[in-house]
Amino acid sequence: MALLEVKDLEIAVAAGGALLPVVRGVSFSVDENETLGIVGESGCGKSLTSLAIMGLLEGSQLRLTGGSISFDGRELNSLSPNERRAIMGDQMAMIFQEPMTSLNPVYRIGDQIVETIRQHRDMSKRQASDRAVELLDLVRIPEPARRIDSFPHQMSGGQRQRVMIAMALACDPKLLIADEPTTALDVTVQKEVLDLMADLQTRMGTAIVLISHDLGVIAETCDKVAVMYRGKIVEAASAAALFANISHPYTRGLLNSIPVVDHDVEWLEAIPGRVPTIDETLPGCAFHPRCSMAEIRCSAEDPAPHDVATGHTVRCHFAGKGTV
Ligand code: SF4
Repeated sequence: MALLEVKDLEIAVAAGGALLPVVRGVSFSVDENETLGIVGESGCGKSLTSLAIMGLLEGSQLRLTGGSISFDGRELNSLSPNERRAIMGDQMAMIFQEPMTSLNPVYRIGDQIVETIRQHRDMSKRQASDRAVELLDLVRIPEPARRIDSFPHQMSGGQRQRVMIAMALACDPKLLIADEPTTALDVTVQKEVLDLMADLQTRMGTAIVLISHDLGVIAETCDKVAVMYRGKIVEAASAAALFANISHPYTRGLLNSIPVVDHDVEWLEAIPGRVPTIDETLPGCAFHPRCSMAEIRCSAEDPAPHDVATGHTVRCHFAGKGTV
């Protein structure tokens, strides 16, 4: 049994008395010690999917309109708010893109980690403070016993992201959801943070869902990949199978837009156009206005997902037919 199993997830946004679908029939699973990468441009539904898993849609215009989310054998949608809160931050934790919006600027980082620990563990302040120093050491903050008294603005961007990782790991979660954890960092710090997450996963066996718009980051770090476009998974496979045989034109477009260090190119290929907004009605394949391979059929008929190889699923009429 997978640690996390998402089946047929549907999310809609309430607007003007109507419910507009933003995530449609999304399914995937993650095992212990495994990293799933969810990739796509902004507005494709990646972050909404992660918020639904964490139970963070409440209080917004977003509605969970269908599907199930099973974690460690329990259906999360059937739990009471209190039961759900007990799991969040303890067995499941999340790292957000920009630590300055998640860390409280007026509290020392040590106090913030201690508070997180004591919400879920029966520890004295002294014990929690010792654990906070251990965690800062674990995420390679130099002189952790001294830095525990720092305020967020006294740390670099990379150090703040490490503090967020320390807070997320405070209660040894079984599942870590990292939503664009390195987007705000420069490339060298990005690599350090990704290496740190991989190292911690090896040591602690944590399952990770890594959300990114960057297929290069996903290629370096993930065991499995799900590519999302306009609320649907359009290609999914193990990372090895997907990168050996990219089968959806959108995935191909994402890959072609990544700079390659040892190749001299004047222009990077960009995918033309933009992700359609949620109120645009688009018959057929949602990617057809941007797809260089689109044919008449594509603007009329929404492709059903089908396997191009065992465990490699694609939503494109022509995938697996030697044309993509
Ligand atoms: Fe492109 Fe058609 Fe495939 Fe959609 S179904 S990705 S428009 S070729």
